[in-house]
Amino acid sequence: MIPNKPSRDDAENKMNNPDKKVNVPPNFIRNIILEDLENNKNEGRVHTRFPPEPNGYLHIGHAKSICLNFGLAEEFSGLCNLRFDDTNPVKEEEEYIRSIQEDIRWLGFDWEDRLFYASDYFDTLYEYALKLIKDGKAYVDDLSADEIREYRGTLTKPGKESPFRKRSIEENLSLFERMKAGEFKNGEKVLRAKIDMASPNLNMRDPVMYRILHAAHHRTGKKWCIYPMYDWAHGQSDSIEGITHSLCTLEFEDHRPLYDWFVENLGIHAPQQIEFARLDMNYTLLSKRKLLRLVKEGFVSGWDDPRMPTLSGIRRRGYTPESIRDFCERIGVAKSNSVVDISLLEHCLREDLNKRAPRVMAVLRPLKVIIENYLENKMEELEAENNPEDASAGTRKLPFSREIYIEQDDFREDPPRKFFRLAPGQEVRLKHAYIIKCEKVIKDSKSGEVTEIHCSYDPATKSGQTADGRKVKGTLHWVSAKHAIAAEVRLYDHLFSKPDPNETEAGQDFISNLNPNSLESVNSFVEPSLKNAKPGERYQFLRNGYFCVDAIDSTAEKPVFNRTTALRDTWARIERSQSQNV
Ligand code: ATP
Ligand code: MG
Repeated sequence: MIPNKPSRDDAENKMNNPDKKVNVPPNFIRNIILEDLENNKNEGRVHTRFPPEPNGYLHIGHAKSICLNFGLAEEFSGLCNLRFDDTNPVKEEEEYIRSIQEDIRWLGFDWEDRLFYASDYFDTLYEYALKLIKDGKAYVDDLSADEIREYRGTLTKPGKESPFRKRSIEENLSLFERMKAGEFKNGEKVLRAKIDMASPNLNMRDPVMYRILHAAHHRTGKKWCIYPMYDWAHGQSDSIEGITHSLCTLEFEDHRPLYDWFVENLGIHAPQQIEFARLDMNYTLLSKRKLLRLVKEGFVSGWDDPRMPTLSGIRRRGYTPESIRDFCERIGVAKSNSVVDISLLEHCLREDLNKRAPRVMAVLRPLKVIIENYLENKMEELEAENNPEDASAGTRKLPFSREIYIEQDDFREDPPRKFFRLAPGQEVRLKHAYIIKCEKVIKDSKSGEVTEIHCSYDPATKSGQTADGRKVKGTLHWVSAKHAIAAEVRLYDHLFSKPDPNETEAGQDFISNLNPNSLESVNSFVEPSLKNAKPGERYQFLRNGYFCVDAIDSTAEKPVFNRTTALRDTWARIERSQSQNV
């Protein structure tokens, strides 16, 4: 018995918990674990693992798996291991191992002292292989990779047995030993499990367990020149670690009989594999191989480019770990594949930052406004609230002076109907300051472009009221020209212009769907309180969205802000229309 064992009721109560922002979506894996606990399976233990291959940076799809594995372990007072599936010496790098750990910690999870590597088990796996050979259940094959493929058959055609399948146990043992000793060249021989070449499941047609690879491994160095295949290493690694619930994505469903065959024939602990649908999201690619191409070929600035769906990119973009965990909870865990709308991710961020991001003013595309009846050298310090959602966030001082900047978009010479911003003869309120009226428009004599607006201000309107009770509909954000800080602001759009980046014309690939406008850099002005903003800090720029200080490129001399997301909430609209339709 484990103490305070959670029950199905607890889980259901949790689902109905009114404190939760949304109903917890179904998670069939949680129900399986609850049932296992009720039956005292695995002596009431819950032990999961997150098993990344260190061949790239983690992406938002991995976050789903991390939240699931670490989250379930946490929920059921169990354990979750971090295990690097480092069976392929050629593609793996230290940089990835470092970044993966950083990303998991950032998400808020901890593997404590349980950091493992599949390569920790190379000796054990070798012993296991010897056992299967001795039991007549594995053999050394001389067929080439092409021949093996050919002999394997297809879904409609049974496979053909290799002429080397009947080798004696002694010969197999000796050849396997010699493979290990480095006597053969890459590809000359393999070790295969002897299962069933006629199995309807292709994975059971004598799968390869070991290949010869004369390559140094990041951890075992030159000790090995035979390396276990993923299918041979994975299940046994789970078994060795005493994993109870081995969660993986749907494409491994057909591999499960093979994993079961291995543990059964080795007579070792059998973890229960449960498959779930991988995260797929529109406008996004979640394949390390393809993301690597974007990095290698320079389509993005690196794995941590803020447009990348990698955790390091998303972090640099300004996402919070809380919003990612919330997202992973809301998408739920299902048995069938579907595509999640990227606006849900953005929605989760807004919900989080709305509560805690300080509000500031920044003018992204500045237009100079001169307030003619305001004294030339006067400066006032106005009081501004930091967050209307959080009174404890306090207030700050905002300098106001004769020359300010507003957004170019907030002025129209020929305003359309209901344009409640600035236009000739029209009044607007400046947030936290006065009401101003547009008196004159200055244009470039050659281009005709509006370069300056001259206004008057009403000194009686500082309190937010007008003396005569007249109403002014629009409120604009602004910064004082003399006090503002020049900053580079990076505005992002989807990295791909198509919802499905893989949908291409014949002969093209996903590269052809890259959005040429995914990054726009503008020269902006931000209010002086941002002078000491630190890398990674997040703000709401009033009316413009959520922004964070770029952790790599921002300097005191030239601050750089990334727009994490705009304020417009597509997801809230989708949700509203969905609720209206039911
Ligand atoms: P990729 O296709 O991006 O290379 P992968 O599955 O090969 O992904 P691994 O490093 O093997 O990458 O993944 C580690 C874990 O993360 C695995 O358990 C895998 O199932 C899970 N995972 C990977 N991609 C997703 C995804 N899109 N959604 C949910 N889980 C995922
Ligand atoms: Mg993989």
